[in-house]
Amino acid sequence: MIFWHLGVTTLIVRYVFRDPAMDLRWVLVGSLLPDIIDKPIGSMLWNDTFHNHRLYAHALVAPVLLLAVAMALTRRGTPVRRAAIAVVIGCFVHLLLDGVWTSPEAFLWPLFGVDFPRVAGSDFATLVRDAIRSPFMWAGEVIGVGYLVFVWRRHLSAPGDLARFMRSGRVPMPTR
Ligand SMILES: [Zn+2]
Repeated sequence: MIFWHLGVTTLIVRYVFRDPAMDLRWVLVGSLLPDIIDKPIGSMLWNDTFHNHRLYAHALVAPVLLLAVAMALTRRGTPVRRAAIAVVIGCFVHLLLDGVWTSPEAFLWPLFGVDFPRVAGSDFATLVRDAIRSPFMWAGEVIGVGYLVFVWRRHLSAPGDLARFMRSGRVPMPTR
């Protein structure tokens, strides 16, 4: 699920934060980051070891640690801190949209022990095959694409809009 994360994360942060200075580019990076980290590790490279596609980056402790590191290493009000916080927000929303509480051993790692439970069909080929067959996956992707198209038509379709967004990561936020 890619557009489910990109689109619905955009929707959630626009309505929850309504911060016109928020750098959406980094939120979008964060919205995919847990899968970018865990899927190659757990379902491609070392599936024989982990047998699970949701590992450390799907644990609540990951964005909490990232936030702590960002607060320790960056200065208030700097673009680097804003970017780091945007990534953390994207990661948090990713966990929410994955419904990670359904895999508490990953979500609350390492409270239930340092090992992750084995998940049947967690190798990449099976994950992709199951995803393609799942109507929920397609519904999620359609919802995500739909919202991105809505934002693009509303705020990014005039000449120069997209280039400005690529430079600043900013999009007008909904007003109440
Ligand atoms: Zn995920």
